[in-house]
Amino acid sequence: DDRISRISSSIRVIPDFPKPGIMFQDITTLLLDPKAFKDTIDLFVERYKDKNINVVAGVEARGFIFGPPIALAIGAKFVPMRKPKKLPGEVISEEYSLEYGTDKIEMHVGAVQPGERAVVVDDLIATGGTLTAAINLLERVGVEVVECACVIELPELKGRDRLGEKQLFVLVSST
Ligand code: 5GP
Repeated sequence: DDRISRISSSIRVIPDFPKPGIMFQDITTLLLDPKAFKDTIDLFVERYKDKNINVVAGVEARGFIFGPPIALAIGAKFVPMRKPKKLPGEVISEEYSLEYGTDKIEMHVGAVQPGERAVVVDDLIATGGTLTAAINLLERVGVEVVECACVIELPELKGRDRLGEKQLFVLVSST
């Protein structure tokens, strides 16, 4: 698919960000290429449009860039999964472990209903900790998480294994 190679080459890699040894996958350069950005959204929309998805859940911050256009195109609602203390209403939260310490994501109570079908969207899966927390949060309130969708996977970090049985759809694998 020539769309995939365009997307792949539009992602910039920045060494030693945010700390030494990390090769940061920078998707802001993909956003500067309207064709690559549109192809990215189209590929997700083609995959999800006929799957009775009610909910696109986007993980802060870059899931907020890719999630909403997908939600609009497939006629689903967009639900932001945010860092702690950002959402003004009553929240349900899920803690997850990082390399050092823990982090949390939160979702508004009442944003989703039991039995709804969701796709969780983020820009990148590394260890899979963030997506696992998002899945747990949605499943705790009775939502069926159909699949996770990311632009980029870092396969060496085995995030896919951490998701277990859960399906993961990615456009680009990066080594
Ligand atoms: P994980 O929880 O899978 O270890 O890390 C994934 C999360 O960290 C995602 O929310 C993603 O946005 C962020 N992240 C980690 N590394 C990178 C990277 O190289 N590039 C980008 N754009 N995001 C990253």
